[in-house]
Amino acid sequence: MAEQTKYILPESEMPTSWVNILPLLKNLDPPLHPGTGKPASPEDFAPIFPNSLIMQEASPEKTIEIPEELLKILRMWRPTPLIRARRLEEVLGTPAKIYYKYEGASPAGSHKLNSAIAQAYYNKQEGVKRLTTETGAGQWGSAIAMAANFFGLDCTVYMVKVSFTQKPYRKSVMRIFGAEVFASPSNKTESGKKILELDPETPGSLGIAISEAVEDAVKHDDAKYTLGSVLNHVILHQTIIGQEVKKQFELLGEKPDILIGCCGGGSNFTGFIVPFVEQIMNGEKIELIATEPHSCPTLTKGVFEYDFGDTAQLTPLIKMYTLGHDFIPPAIHSGGLRYHGDAPILSRLKKDGIVKARAYNQLEVFDAAMTFAKAEGIIPAPESAHAIKGTIDEAIKAKEEGKEKVIAFNLSGHGFLDLTAYEAYMDGNLKDYEYPKELVEKSLEKLPKVGD
Ligand SMILES: *Cc1c(COP(=O)(O)O)cnc(C)c1O
Repeated sequence: MAEQTKYILPESEMPTSWVNILPLLKNLDPPLHPGTGKPASPEDFAPIFPNSLIMQEASPEKTIEIPEELLKILRMWRPTPLIRARRLEEVLGTPAKIYYKYEGASPAGSHKLNSAIAQAYYNKQEGVKRLTTETGAGQWGSAIAMAANFFGLDCTVYMVKVSFTQKPYRKSVMRIFGAEVFASPSNKTESGKKILELDPETPGSLGIAISEAVEDAVKHDDAKYTLGSVLNHVILHQTIIGQEVKKQFELLGEKPDILIGCCGGGSNFTGFIVPFVEQIMNGEKIELIATEPHSCPTLTKGVFEYDFGDTAQLTPLIKMYTLGHDFIPPAIHSGGLRYHGDAPILSRLKKDGIVKARAYNQLEVFDAAMTFAKAEGIIPAPESAHAIKGTIDEAIKAKEEGKEKVIAFNLSGHGFLDLTAYEAYMDGNLKDYEYPKELVEKSLEKLPKVGD
């Protein structure tokens, strides 16, 4: 068997600023105030976010320096390794070289901690006492709970009900770090109560949990809301991933032909690719592929329109690929990919043809996860396994075409707390869900009308 090779950047090479893609995206549509339909002003965001993050959300600067206090925390697990998946290459018999960036190396188990610590830091700086948030599979909840704990903040997490049941140990992780966790929809908020009245058995959705967390923050002066994906500032914080990858490839003397990542709200994939976008806009050929579940196919089947970020229509309108704000996706095990929309930055890159998207079924994704785990010894999060499925497909295509492609994917997190899903797969109890076409069509009828 081939030897696995790890490329670890020296600590001194860890990036000290974030890359802001906004100056490159001249045609990005602004968020709109839902009442007036006019571009939202910074004051509109003040009840839910601290000022420094609102500024980052619309910053014209090409780079933003990472505060020293954050660099110290980032060095706990960064730079993360770039690993050559030689054993997987051998299993597939592909001439392609496969690399993966391992974000599961963070103490929270995923890339989410990169933004969680930044958000906790800026909130702390501005005197906030408690953070509210939603979580799907629980990865973001674990990361923000850990980050809140590092900075001495309280933390309230609304966890999508289906994940609360499927992944009980994520809840334990959040509680260890001092967070209070409620299954969403809950009876703690008006938004939650309304949904429960309509359907007491609902599995919940990220859209609903966001409504609850936003409502909680708006109603309490000392609390602010945090979001683990979608927003410009979250993607900004995640660009540390792509910058490291770029340096790692430079040191290797190698150039990637294809970059692949899974997409829920778009933060790990977009943070992975942003540092490469300028050279691609200038003509360099690198394929960028976002992968998503067939049962929640925002990029491949959604419409590029203004929509609410949450179910109860509390957030500003954002222009993105969406399946409609009250679409409730089937209860697949990749809870982190069950979001009805996508980051505006990623949506724009997809619309402009810089990024391509592919959708996969749950079973083929777990097949890929098993192949990868057996070859490389890392059990991937089901979300990340979508990127693995995309990578394996590309590696097999390279074999058929006899091409020596260099493929890199972002392994956004490990799957040690997703073992219930693996058990279900191995027992033959996982099923594929049909794409819920009618539900999506019904939901899309309720898109807000903008500009006419
Ligand atoms: C949350 C999560 C995702 C999906 O969110 P993005 O914002 O699209 O990155 C993917 N993988 C893991 C491990 C996650 O925790």
